[in-house]
Amino acid sequence: MRVFLWMALSLGVLIAHAVQAREMVITVDDLPWVEFAHGTRSEIQPRHRRLLSALKGIPAIGFVNEAKLVDGAQLSLWRQQMLIDWLDRGFELGNHTDNHNDLHQVPAEQFEQSILRGERYLRPLLGQRQQALRWFRHPYLHTGMDAATRERITQFLAAHDYQVAPVTVDNGEWIYARAYLLALQQRDRALQARLRADYVDYMLAKVVFFEDAAQRQFEREIPQILLIHANALNADALPDLLTVLRIRGYQFIALAQALADPAYRHDDQFFGRGGISWLHRWALTDQFPKSHYEGEPSVPDWVLQLAGVDGE
Ligand SMILES: [Zn+2]
Repeated sequence: MRVFLWMALSLGVLIAHAVQAREMVITVDDLPWVEFAHGTRSEIQPRHRRLLSALKGIPAIGFVNEAKLVDGAQLSLWRQQMLIDWLDRGFELGNHTDNHNDLHQVPAEQFEQSILRGERYLRPLLGQRQQALRWFRHPYLHTGMDAATRERITQFLAAHDYQVAPVTVDNGEWIYARAYLLALQQRDRALQARLRADYVDYMLAKVVFFEDAAQRQFEREIPQILLIHANALNADALPDLLTVLRIRGYQFIALAQALADPAYRHDDQFFGRGGISWLHRWALTDQFPKSHYEGEPSVPDWVLQLAGVDGE
């Protein structure tokens, strides 16, 4: 009897998912790797390979900080190879400035130089494969605190044939990643497992929150764009995260395909300090009430404390 009940419930769940087809882009920032300062080559390389294995079959895109290719004063061949691995496996690459410059901290001209320095290796690398460098992701999602700066950088990017890669599912994954790195260094396997499980729950809750936000803003769901980083946490936890997303009905699509959705042509009059979700930028432009933003999941205190981070 119990087995039948379980089967009936499972079938119900499957049918519910079948009618709810959803789309998402997986974008991975700070390539080739976030944590070069906190791991040896022999630790990082297998993590990098696990991350790429988890992404197998998904049209993911990675955003590169070229300054990370230099170790000390030397160009690092094994770090370069990490980028080549992304391309060899069929993923896209984009520019994320050379040294993760913050547009809200440096003059616009300096920011523009960091964009150009961020393509010195990348553009020829893609060119060898008859691919164009076409995507740019703003570090910290900082797009300019005033209209003039934002417009200037937008024009600069367009003049260099870049399209901006937005994010809808912004999140505090980087905080989990810091805590996870410490748990790895402490060889605390129980804590690692607890962090991975909580991370997956948290990210799913974030995704659900932005599904609801899109529903209120567009009266439908839109293709979501998820931001994560190339780090040890995702090397270990991304398979589980992708599994729960697939169960929720997500198919993973390329960035260009998502941006073809008319939602991404929505007016954006957001000029502010925060590096926030594009859904929130559109909601602010449309003057949604405060209640629209309520209920967004936050990183729990125990993770913040482990990571040594005051807040998101
Ligand atoms: Zn970044």
